[in-house]
Amino acid sequence: MRIRKYFRGSGRVLAFVFIASVIWLLFDMAALRVSFSEVNPQLLKELIVKEREALKHQATTRTPFLKKRGPKLPQQKSDMQRLNEVQFAFKVDEQAGGRAADAAQVTQDLQLGPDKKAARENKDSELKRAHKNAQSDAKLHAKVQVKWPKDLITNTSIRAAPIAVNKQENIAKQGMHVRKEAISDTQKGIHVPSKASVKIPKELPKAPPGAKEEELHLTPKPGKKSPHTTGASKLVVVDKSKNNVLDTGATSEIKADEKAHPKESPAGDDNSLQVKVKEFPKMDKSKDQQSNISIPVNKKEVSKERDGGPGMGKISVLNMKEAGGEVKVNSTVRVRDSGTHKVLHIDVTQHPRDAKVIGQFGQPAEVAKDKEVQVMKMWNEGYFNVYLSEQIPLDRAIPDTRPQGCSEMLVHNDLPTTSVIFCFVDEVWSTLLRSVHSVLNRSPPHLLKEIILVDDFSTKDYLKEKLDEYMSQFPKVRIVRLKERQGLIRARLAGAAVATGEVLTFLDSHIECNVGWLEPLLERVYLDRRKVAIPVIEVISDKDLSYMLVDNFQRGIFKWPLVFGWKPIPEEIIKRDKIKDSDPLRCPVMAGGLFSIDKKYFYELGTYDPGLDVWGGENMEISFKIWMCGGEMEIIPCSRVGHIFRNENPYKFPKDRQKTVERNLVRVAEVWLDEYKDLFYGHGYHHLLNKNNVEVGDLSEQIQLRKNLKCKSFKWYLENIYPDLEAPLVKAEGLIFNLGARKCLVVEKEKLSFEVCDLSRQNQHFNHTWLRHVRQQNVCLALKNAKDDVGPVECDRADPQLRWLHKSHVFNPPLLEHLILEHLPQPACLEADRKGVAVLLRKCDPGSPFQKWQFTNYYAE
Ligand code: UDP
Ligand code: MN
Repeated sequence: MRIRKYFRGSGRVLAFVFIASVIWLLFDMAALRVSFSEVNPQLLKELIVKEREALKHQATTRTPFLKKRGPKLPQQKSDMQRLNEVQFAFKVDEQAGGRAADAAQVTQDLQLGPDKKAARENKDSELKRAHKNAQSDAKLHAKVQVKWPKDLITNTSIRAAPIAVNKQENIAKQGMHVRKEAISDTQKGIHVPSKASVKIPKELPKAPPGAKEEELHLTPKPGKKSPHTTGASKLVVVDKSKNNVLDTGATSEIKADEKAHPKESPAGDDNSLQVKVKEFPKMDKSKDQQSNISIPVNKKEVSKERDGGPGMGKISVLNMKEAGGEVKVNSTVRVRDSGTHKVLHIDVTQHPRDAKVIGQFGQPAEVAKDKEVQVMKMWNEGYFNVYLSEQIPLDRAIPDTRPQGCSEMLVHNDLPTTSVIFCFVDEVWSTLLRSVHSVLNRSPPHLLKEIILVDDFSTKDYLKEKLDEYMSQFPKVRIVRLKERQGLIRARLAGAAVATGEVLTFLDSHIECNVGWLEPLLERVYLDRRKVAIPVIEVISDKDLSYMLVDNFQRGIFKWPLVFGWKPIPEEIIKRDKIKDSDPLRCPVMAGGLFSIDKKYFYELGTYDPGLDVWGGENMEISFKIWMCGGEMEIIPCSRVGHIFRNENPYKFPKDRQKTVERNLVRVAEVWLDEYKDLFYGHGYHHLLNKNNVEVGDLSEQIQLRKNLKCKSFKWYLENIYPDLEAPLVKAEGLIFNLGARKCLVVEKEKLSFEVCDLSRQNQHFNHTWLRHVRQQNVCLALKNAKDDVGPVECDRADPQLRWLHKSHVFNPPLLEHLILEHLPQPACLEADRKGVAVLLRKCDPGSPFQKWQFTNYYAE
């Protein structure tokens, strides 16, 4: 009733006004809402853009000094970007309140020439500067040198080092960073002198009920000190709970035919190699079986990844199409019940690391002036700074150069075990030991089945009893001694034959494995046993033994005539495919020294061609075999191993070095290259077509193997795995037009003459081949008789008398359009007679149009 009162008289008017204004208000609010919803996406967009920019900025300014682990220098960006990033890095460092970064002095040295010597000299002074800088805690000057070899290929004999991002100051700085970390690690108990422990990371998946996390304790064996090292680490595994020493060292000798695990060694029956195996006693089986690091198994998780495990990202297909587009045979793909864990960070030392000791943290080491003669004296023992190497601790720290995300990468709990195989011949003591220690110290013990050292009949005394004695401390190390020099290929096979791990990991004997190197490799093999996993090979300087990180996004490739090199992936492709620097990269050819392969698969592939001698070509052979016969090869950026690249092989070749390498390459070309082998011979190896110049040995087994494995063609390999290689099958083809006679060459009734040019006439079509033949079907142009008559004869690949130079820079440009018969003492030129009927051989005349010839199409010079 009371309410009704308000709706009477003027109240009614008031009520109306009130209701109207409420309605108006509602409308107004609705309108406002509409306009908000229009504006919001715009705002949102702006926010996202801003956020992205901030992220980008964060990414470009991401710097080692702000992160827990060592620096991940900006990699594989444009040079300017790189330089900017370094500048940023220094700014950020300054902000971070670290050392007062003085004005960041950034210089760019785009070195385009392949002049290695100049590059090296440059690098030397650069490194010296860097070392000085590293010593100065107060001031850091960044001097960046980006090396761009003009040609990625080195000389035909020595394998190239990948492009190093030679930012020594960054490494040096990183070293300092590591130093801090090392100290804090000591506090954490990793570098405790008497007892070091590696804890299973907390992030490991939750163990199922009943599973117990264990600690691995690494303590030095009391009493016995390594005779030849300073601070050498010794890996003795102790099960703390039982206080049992798991690894003990004493030696015993067994013969090759009593190989420890003949059934597991498919090559066990091969008695062609005389092998003497020095084996240290096995660990107590019951204790050995008990995994040193207990990895809980999560039964719920089933691994089905094929294109990349968690954290591995997708495989970068890049220019390469998916291998044949085929569906993989399931038997090669593991699908197991297994959980995952973060890659283990293991870096064991016997003593805390002394930050001041020479070469520590991979920093460049300097030689005192009065020791330079000594350095020169010792250089030839290994063709690197052997003197310095002897001063550097055998278990030195090196900077963790893994790209961002690698330390967080997940790997499966039940990865296969591996046998690490080092072959060596007259290797320098300190580098051999540093190699072995880096494996012992930085590999999860439960994955490292053994280390096999294959002595390829070394001549140095210290590699005999002294090595036996030294290695007797490490029960996982076995020494195989070959009774005659076999070369690295057959030495590796001897190692593989006695290996008992599921995966074979081959390494050179002058390397240093970085932290977390092993699991990412084994993970790839685990996902598909036909994957062959290759670590990023970083550069240990041959001069100052510093550890240099290399540019990511480099693939191993070859150029003609089968010369190995590195090729950076173009920036556009990295952007287009959004390739992360931690993504595995499929790689057409491996560098050779370092890779992991499933042992059974290695044997299914027929191993290496055992007919390859000493050194060279084996990396091509295994690469072609892997790709063409159904496997894959990947570079794994989360796995990094430093390698000393040398300019000469420090060991002797039993036969002529060049001939040995050439012979190996001929074997590879003849077995794998199909019709493309002429590109190999045509790039400077014509002389190898003459069987008197090269004895290749029997190839029938290798050819049969290829048939049995039903391997694909080399054409398939080029089209699918390495499409960026230029590989035209002929240098030129089509009609051959004479500029003077203005007619084309024709073969008629087994004679050469001229006709009006006519593309439809097959007998006017010729090829200029890689063997330099001017060829139609199976006939080739040649000097017919002692006179000057030229005509068609049956082609013969080995006959140098059938080779014609054309568009060749061998002769001066005035003779570019000539066809020059090269075998004569005085090169002679093909000439059309004035009537345009006969074809003759005459003294070369640069001006005569009758000696100038043009093919319809040219594909190569
Ligand atoms: N090697 C060997 N026997 C030989 C030649 C080489 O055992 O006849 C070893 C060598 O000691 C090294 C590995 O094989 O550990 C690879 O050789 P090298 O380092 O000379 O090859 P590069 O790194 O130059 O390709
Ligand atoms: Mn090497």
